[in-house]
Amino acid sequence: MRQVVNPPNPYDKYSSEFLGEPPKAKLEIYEETTTRSMISKSYNGPGKHRLTVNCYRGCIHACTYCFARRYHEFLGYGAGTDFETKIVAKVNAPEALRAELKKTREKIELLEFSFATDPYIPIEANYELTRKCLEVCLDFKIPTVIVTKSPLVTRDIELIKKLGAGVFFSIPFLNKESSKPFEQFTPIPDARFRAMKKVSDAGIETGLALAPVIPGYNESQIPGLLEKAKECGATRAFMSMLHIDSDSIEKYFVEKTRAHIPTKAEKIINTMKRERNGRLQHRTFAERNTGGTKQWKAATELFELHFSRLGFRKFERPRNEPPEETTATQGSLF
Ligand code: SF4
Repeated sequence: MRQVVNPPNPYDKYSSEFLGEPPKAKLEIYEETTTRSMISKSYNGPGKHRLTVNCYRGCIHACTYCFARRYHEFLGYGAGTDFETKIVAKVNAPEALRAELKKTREKIELLEFSFATDPYIPIEANYELTRKCLEVCLDFKIPTVIVTKSPLVTRDIELIKKLGAGVFFSIPFLNKESSKPFEQFTPIPDARFRAMKKVSDAGIETGLALAPVIPGYNESQIPGLLEKAKECGATRAFMSMLHIDSDSIEKYFVEKTRAHIPTKAEKIINTMKRERNGRLQHRTFAERNTGGTKQWKAATELFELHFSRLGFRKFERPRNEPPEETTATQGSLF
């Protein structure tokens, strides 16, 4: 059981600290009943944007490196354990998405289920909001891609097949031991690979999101991750560097890294700082995915070498044509 720990919320005028032992962090589910917009637009480089759908706010998976933590601060919550345990379910998400698509369908080239939370956090098993939103996408013939760390996605294989969506599995570590310091509450890597195989075997296109690469920690796992993904049927892959873009995320990541992996923490922090000219945070979008050292260049080349050797293809977003049939395949989608 975790104890409550949240970095000061920059949107609050005051912050407080516990005197003595902080209380235990308990899972709390809140239902948001009046969500008006389900499609979020996020900046994806000059002149580009991504359209994402998130049926929940906060994420039980609780990856310590998660850049979505800062979105919880907009709600007045903390980016630490609040993000992991105060979860908001947008219970009218399917109706809101349907209403929105009635007005915007023609402008939608691709919807991504991910970004601010994992679409298959454990409470999705009960709420089925992601599932119902995918059904809406099927009705509107929307090209769709899902990014998840959860085998719960296999529940929706038949629906995803009909929709012609692709599924990316986010797996940055090869085994439980290397995942644990950063992903204490996610399904273990083997469970994600098994789910990837099951989804691929069903004829759905799958991919590996090798993200984040944490400089000084998991670069050496790049070939093994690509090989394992290939064995599990993945045909697409991308990698990206650890994204830290706020003081809260930096504080939480550093604290948790020091607590969970004390013997390697300083090496990881210092290696990351070397990539960012002495900082942990990137300052621009262009800087976000690029390291400044030869070590990062070598990691990129390692990825490219094994990516080509194993015959992977890139994630291409978006395509301009909507699918012609309800059961459209999205071979060129991602
Ligand atoms: S699964 Fe994704 S959204 Fe959830 S905590 Fe991890 S990185 Fe963040």
